[in-house]
Amino acid sequence: MGGPIIIVGAGHAAGHLVMSLRADGFSGSITVIGEEPHVPYQRPPLSKQYLGGEVGVAKLYLRPVEWYRDAGIDLISDTAVTGIDRAAKTIALSDGRTLEYDQLALTTGSRVRTLPIPGVDLPGVFYLRTIQDVDRIREHFVAGRRLAIIGGGYIGLEATAVAVKKGLVVTVLEMDTRVMSRVVAPIMSEFFEDVHRTAGVDVRTSVRVTGIVRNEDSLSVCSDDGAIVVADLVIIAVGIVPNVELAAAAGLPTDNGILVDEFGRTSDPCIVAAGDCTNHPSFIYGRRVRLESVQNAMSQARVAAAALNGKPKPYTDVPTFWSEQYDLRLQIVGLSQGYDDIVVRGDPGERAFALFYLKEGVLVAVDAINKPMEFMHCRRLVADRARVAPDQLKDPAVPVQDAVRL
Ligand SMILES: Cc1cc2nc3c(=O)[nH]c(=O)nc-3n(C[C@H](O)[C@H](O)[C@H](O)COP(=O)(O)OP(=O)(O)OC[C@H]3O[C@@H](n4cnc5c(N)ncnc54)[C@H](O)[C@@H]3O)c2cc1C
Repeated sequence: MGGPIIIVGAGHAAGHLVMSLRADGFSGSITVIGEEPHVPYQRPPLSKQYLGGEVGVAKLYLRPVEWYRDAGIDLISDTAVTGIDRAAKTIALSDGRTLEYDQLALTTGSRVRTLPIPGVDLPGVFYLRTIQDVDRIREHFVAGRRLAIIGGGYIGLEATAVAVKKGLVVTVLEMDTRVMSRVVAPIMSEFFEDVHRTAGVDVRTSVRVTGIVRNEDSLSVCSDDGAIVVADLVIIAVGIVPNVELAAAAGLPTDNGILVDEFGRTSDPCIVAAGDCTNHPSFIYGRRVRLESVQNAMSQARVAAAALNGKPKPYTDVPTFWSEQYDLRLQIVGLSQGYDDIVVRGDPGERAFALFYLKEGVLVAVDAINKPMEFMHCRRLVADRARVAPDQLKDPAVPVQDAVRL
């Protein structure tokens, strides 16, 4: 303990990891290496306020560059880690250097899932993951332009809402039968489809895009039903894949993420991992999960820092997520997969309601639209794995926190 710590990847988890290490009293050498040309930054505004031009790049940074200097942290940007030699306890960098570590943290995050169809490399076709991606997209965000979004998940729909506000004409092409199908129940998907359609968006579901073709001054997005959407620009937002290759090449076990225990430790006692790239045992759900959220990146960073400091503490936080589209804030606590009953509280028509997901009578997740106060109580109920009377949950006259626990 106390020897040099190297952090691979300079994203959200890395930023919180260094803050936690210093806050927990680690005074040794810390080096953070990231392949992007930025200090660790937050990605959520990329598909929201930053895409809309409401905030500048400095607002994205978790800490300004001076903070790292003052905290004695060595930041190496624009440089990839290309290999880990666990026996020698060294890492190789893309600029040819080799650095020694005592302990290593992998916060390599994830990258966009690419579509294996013709035309994705054409000018005017974009993915949305980094500051540079959004800077390029923003140049095309001009009122009246036609935008095709491939993928009706959070990021595609958030970008849609921003584009509508900017006066673009948007078509959303979703392969599944409904939008956001991976994370929310059909009633919530229907709600968001209605919201977007009311805002003038052409939302098409059950559409598989087969290719993109360049015309003289536009793009044609072709799908398997024979339909063609003509657009000036295209954003592909079809999910992400975890960056596990570096860990796997070093012989660390991976399975939909780098496998870590509840303390963020990999199978190598000198290596921890945190954030999107990990697969961890969930205390609350009793199974392994890989999460893609800021809350997870921050919580796991704290846990990994504790392990690096020789004071391991388990990861017990309940997963939370959020999304912002138009005037709507969707907050999610818990994982709804496998639910067998659903309770609706409030009226979707009023754009303020909540869905409670139950499994064998236990509350496993809640989705809340524009209900921030109620949501705070929902977090507690889900964390407690509460058995709550459905008729009370349903009744807006009964405060959520007072709903009878069975
Ligand atoms: C547009 C967008 C909107 C989002 N909105 C929300 C939201 O509203 N709410 C929410 O909870 N979450 C949201 N997320 C998800 C959230 O941002 C991620 O879960 C979070 O960034 C994960 O942090 P991370 O540090 O694990 O990974 P990342 O932020 O992906 O950082 C990993 C970094 O490591 C670098 N790296 C990888 N391999 C190497 C290597 N070999 N050498 C050097 N560097 C390397 C990568 O380039 C990257 O910079 C959003 C994500 C995106 C893209």
